[in-house]
Amino acid sequence: MLGPKMMDVGRHPNITLWMYSEVVGLGGEAGDFTARVRRRATFVDWDKCTGCAACGDVCPVKMWNEFESGLSRRAAIYRPFPQAVPNKFVIDRQGTPPCQAACPLHVNAQGYTALISAGKYREALALVRERNPFPGITGRVCHHPCEAACERATIDEAIAIDFLKRFVADRESDLEWDLEIAEEREERVAIVGSGPAGLVAAYDLRRRGYGVTVFEALPVLGGMLAVGIPSYRLPRDLLEGEIDVLKRLGVEFRLNTRIGREVTLEELVAEGYGAIFLGLGAHVSRKLGIDGEDLEGVWGAVEFLRSVNLGEKVRVGKRAAVIGGGNAAIDAARTLLRLGCEDVSIVYRRSRVEMPAMEREIVEAEHEGVKIEYLTLPTKVIGSGGKVVAMECVRMELGEPDESGRRRPIPIEGSEFRMEIDMVVPAISQSPDLEGVGEGVDLEITRWGSIAADPVTLATSVSGVFAGGDAVTGPRTYIEAMAQGRKAAISIDRYLRGADMAVGRDGEGPFETDVKPDTRGVGQAPRAVMPTLELGERAGDFREVDLGFDEEQAVSEAKRCLNCAGCSECKACVAACEPDAIRHGMEDAFVDLDVGAIVVATGYDLYEWEGLAAYGYGTSPDIVTALEFERILAASGPTGGEVRRPSDGRIPKEVVFVNCVGSRDPESGVAYCSRVCCMYTAKEAMLYKHRVHDGQAYVFYIDIRSNGKGYEEFVQRGMEEEGILFLRGKVSKIFQEDGKIMVWGVDTLTGRNVEVAADMAVLATAMVPNKGVKELAKLLRIGTDEYGFLKEAHLKLRPVETLTAGIFIAGAAQSPKDITDTVSQASGAAMKVVDLLSGDELDHEPTVASVDPEVCRACGYCEAACAYGAVEVDLVEKVAKVNEMLCEGCGGCSVACPSGAISHTNFSSRQYMEMIEVATEDY
Ligand code: FAD
Repeated sequence: MLGPKMMDVGRHPNITLWMYSEVVGLGGEAGDFTARVRRRATFVDWDKCTGCAACGDVCPVKMWNEFESGLSRRAAIYRPFPQAVPNKFVIDRQGTPPCQAACPLHVNAQGYTALISAGKYREALALVRERNPFPGITGRVCHHPCEAACERATIDEAIAIDFLKRFVADRESDLEWDLEIAEEREERVAIVGSGPAGLVAAYDLRRRGYGVTVFEALPVLGGMLAVGIPSYRLPRDLLEGEIDVLKRLGVEFRLNTRIGREVTLEELVAEGYGAIFLGLGAHVSRKLGIDGEDLEGVWGAVEFLRSVNLGEKVRVGKRAAVIGGGNAAIDAARTLLRLGCEDVSIVYRRSRVEMPAMEREIVEAEHEGVKIEYLTLPTKVIGSGGKVVAMECVRMELGEPDESGRRRPIPIEGSEFRMEIDMVVPAISQSPDLEGVGEGVDLEITRWGSIAADPVTLATSVSGVFAGGDAVTGPRTYIEAMAQGRKAAISIDRYLRGADMAVGRDGEGPFETDVKPDTRGVGQAPRAVMPTLELGERAGDFREVDLGFDEEQAVSEAKRCLNCAGCSECKACVAACEPDAIRHGMEDAFVDLDVGAIVVATGYDLYEWEGLAAYGYGTSPDIVTALEFERILAASGPTGGEVRRPSDGRIPKEVVFVNCVGSRDPESGVAYCSRVCCMYTAKEAMLYKHRVHDGQAYVFYIDIRSNGKGYEEFVQRGMEEEGILFLRGKVSKIFQEDGKIMVWGVDTLTGRNVEVAADMAVLATAMVPNKGVKELAKLLRIGTDEYGFLKEAHLKLRPVETLTAGIFIAGAAQSPKDITDTVSQASGAAMKVVDLLSGDELDHEPTVASVDPEVCRACGYCEAACAYGAVEVDLVEKVAKVNEMLCEGCGGCSVACPSGAISHTNFSSRQYMEMIEVATEDY
């Protein structure tokens, strides 16, 4: 209905539309305002967008459609409705989704999950690779902080984000990728250590154009990925295949080269390396510190796993105890079983809840037969003939939390016991092996035996030498080590360019985000289960245990994503947009507009109130608001204009319309009449009857307020010709029973209780002030009434003016009104503007404040009291000054002035006093 008018406005040569924009500041006065406008980022270049909708068609993110009152879904890139003016698209992005914010590398998890849900696997893999060069490895070993932050867990279980990443990495491993290198640079960088930290640093620096050489002490690449994590979790061909990308980039590798033995840091500098990164990891198992640790049969977990992983011959015992609760402990235990150890126990001093190993790993270990002795501490390894024969232990109980936040284990007196074993594998922690590394240079080491590095830049005490990963943080995780590698690469790049290394680095690392998903209508859906190798096939076998999702599992798992942030920048739209209009990097812009007058027409909101629940709203999709029903009736609406129930698409045979839901109800805070409900309810009931001839419409009302020409007749026609049943009375309860919407009420004309069993109920909810209108009113220096609607200067004499000259109001921002009233008020406001701006001079209130400078003490009370920003204290002259163009003569400043320095021109104190006397006189 408004379409043609809106088109006219959009095409008018003298009208500029500033869509998706808001006024955030106002200066000046009538005839000469400056409005500061925030133009929100649309992420689409409107000069290029043709409104073709190709982007919306490919967008995998579906969100509730506000224009359809949440009755249908729209894409995250959308145009509000087909006839929208201008016919342009915008992207709905709410911020960074929790999964991405929690990832140390900020991999776009929501984005690739959305792409998988749409079957775009190659695009998904390309998106992962933008921030993570090792998707297959990550999909297998990452401890997935993204999943810990996943909002889906508030409904049922977190999305299996990591397994989805693995799915695309495995399925599309042949996908070529853009390995472009920025302009080649002369400087060379030495990376020491080929673990995840070193590999990512090498990858990033090479892509920035530096010559990179990786020095690795061991004969294999990958650090703990190769010599710690067993191959049944991370197949070696996959590991080598993903590391291969660095070779293709031109990174040079020198294996079997230990810094501090084969070559020193000083020699690296002499060889011409401009910067060095130390990613040495933590490869020495910490001792238990108990008697008997030197006996034959005691193996540090990382030393044991390293030997096994390097293919060395390792003799295992028959009964082994692994001490610790982390991933290394679980890996050692499961490896022992595979090597033929008959009885493997994990001994852990805390309880299952505190165990740091990944939950899935613990479950699999137990499944394979590993026993776990919780709340148990080894106190002595007992030997015979120099070999382990038993271990003495004590049971523990948990006390108060320690500095790690976990409850401190305390030995229980008299609970000592003995375990008969022939092998002990301590897996309590590891430290870096720094022997010889700092030789000849002043490399600072912490008291925990790690390398000291600046937390922001990772610079060490030696200029040009940086360090990161486990060697700095102590044993942590794969993804944190990668993030440290990336951090170091940024620092090294800046160091070599002579730039400030510390500036602007706040966004690195995980952060909190307040983005929350819209969970309306989301039902339970269980998380997909990873298929695994049969138990019987695992013994003596290092084949991968997790077999990966099939396509069906992956897609349905991806569809569980709540798309917390709306648009996830998956970039499907970028590929689809022929005019190249998508601008994901767009930011909000601010413009100052010089205007002579302002018309505020910000409309209204519908009542969202917990009291709506008493009307059953939210308990059944078939209890809708009148606005929702309006969309159901609309030919361009979600049902194409056919009246169908949202729950099952059936044509409703009885519909109950309820007026005054929220309004005319002082208890709900809306004592006023919303004015338009009686008539639009009558209209909707009539339209319903036109579509469903054999349907019955009921209307509950308090009294019918048909205040408009021909309105009363319209209601009469509805009753007499269409058979709409108008019931005078209040509804007491609406609820769902046996597939029907039950409406209980009282007919106040007959005094009888009424019960209607209907297929749908339509609630005419109150009109309330627009959200944010109070702030806007403050900013524009105009007033609001007791309910929060914008206040006119005088209801009858100046209905479109405000008390601030040059600012006018129109429409439901002032009070509830229908389209006809709105249009006439808007015309009135427009005429006022014409009147204001067409004259040679501006009219102004004659009564304005004036300051007596002799008396004024510049205390500032007047400035604080002025609602119009008209009074300002001149700090140099130490006197308050009044801008007469802004002053509305309200008297607020003179009341606030403690020294009586402010009076009003054309109005003496004597006049005020006389007025007060008259007003307070007793009659
Ligand atoms: P590392 O991966 O340890 O790599 C350091 C490299 O530096 C090694 O290759 C080493 O040989 C080399 N090096 C050392 N000194 C020198 C020198 N002087 N000269 C040249 N080279 C040198 N994390 C997870 O997120 N998920 C898991 O499932 C997981 N499982 C684990 C299982 C085990 C058994 C262990 C021990 C750790 C596990 N971790 C896991 C932790 C994770 O592997 C580490 O946090 C991560 O590998 C640390 O990366 P880094 O690059 O700092 O060091």
